[in-house]
Amino acid sequence: MMRIGHGFDVHRLVEDRPLILGGVTIPYALGLLGHSDADVLLHAVCDAILGALGLGDIGRYFPDSDPGYRGIDSMKLLDHVIGLAHNRDYQISNLDVTVIAQRPKLAPHVDQMITNLARTCRVTADRINIKATTTEELGYTGRGEGISAHAVVLMTKV
Ligand code: MG
Repeated sequence: MMRIGHGFDVHRLVEDRPLILGGVTIPYALGLLGHSDADVLLHAVCDAILGALGLGDIGRYFPDSDPGYRGIDSMKLLDHVIGLAHNRDYQISNLDVTVIAQRPKLAPHVDQMITNLARTCRVTADRINIKATTTEELGYTGRGEGISAHAVVLMTKV
């Protein structure tokens, strides 16, 4: 039994926030705004997994009206979502993520992101692919106003 899911998320870039992507704090003048740590990559991954399992979206489990989730490490959210999958006997066959950012360069951080995701998703690193692209200076991403991420996941019943 296999199920596929897609996730998409966007967060605004602002001053006085850390930039955290895939659980890696990346040196940059701006960071992502959000109720949690605003790790847009992990939010897309959570939504892809929830989508594959037919479990709605991240807002259902971690509403941003709940002060308990303020500033929370999104790896904790992903860990919870993976727990929901395991409770239903599903595990990740493969996960493919695209981060869309004009700046900064993300390539130097991708290996660490993959290591972080593999650990929390409880799979080997070869099941996870993370890539980054710009939008050639076009649109809100190109103007540096925000960063978005897409994730596609294949979940298999074990
Ligand atoms: Mg989000």
